[in-house]
Amino acid sequence: MIEKMRDKMTPRIGRRSFLKMAAVGAGVGAAASLPLGRSLRAATAAEVKEPFPGSKRVKTICSICSAGCGMIAEVQNGVWVRQDVAQDHPISEGSHCCKGIDQIDLIKSKQRLKFPMKKENGQWKRIGWDQAVDEISGKMLALRKENGPDMAMFLGSAKFNLQQAYYFRKFAAMWGTNNIDHVARI
Ligand code: SF4
Repeated sequence: MIEKMRDKMTPRIGRRSFLKMAAVGAGVGAAASLPLGRSLRAATAAEVKEPFPGSKRVKTICSICSAGCGMIAEVQNGVWVRQDVAQDHPISEGSHCCKGIDQIDLIKSKQRLKFPMKKENGQWKRIGWDQAVDEISGKMLALRKENGPDMAMFLGSAKFNLQQAYYFRKFAAMWGTNNIDHVARI
């Protein structure tokens, strides 16, 4: 089965080449919004050969789930700039699932949420953590009062570590329900 999957995944372009192309595509997309004439230039031979001068390739693992697939994080001046697969990892052997293949986007994506947001009159606005916790917990308690504790289902995350999973289970128990499972089950 794994062999078949590997055969199917055998790329006409290498993963590394694909990631390079994606990076160039993203760069072109961003550059396209600049004033005409200043937006594009050909990469120099040195940039093509080494887009991140002085970077280090650090062996690590994907932290999105407990499979722990191998990953190479390329780091430049302390910043994670590019991701590659670890071909020699004993578990993943150079593969990733669709979540792990762009784990770097957890850091670099412009869509990443960094603070609570609330939609008011059709517009998203930033709110403080205290307000977010107060409003969400207030609504949860109102629903619980109206419908009982089994109105809620608690789904843990594949990103939880042992301690986080413990607290999450405790939270569901204190809430008063056994409706708790791991998100991957569904
Ligand atoms: S690449 Fe996918 S399967 Fe592997 S550790 Fe990351 S999330 Fe889990």
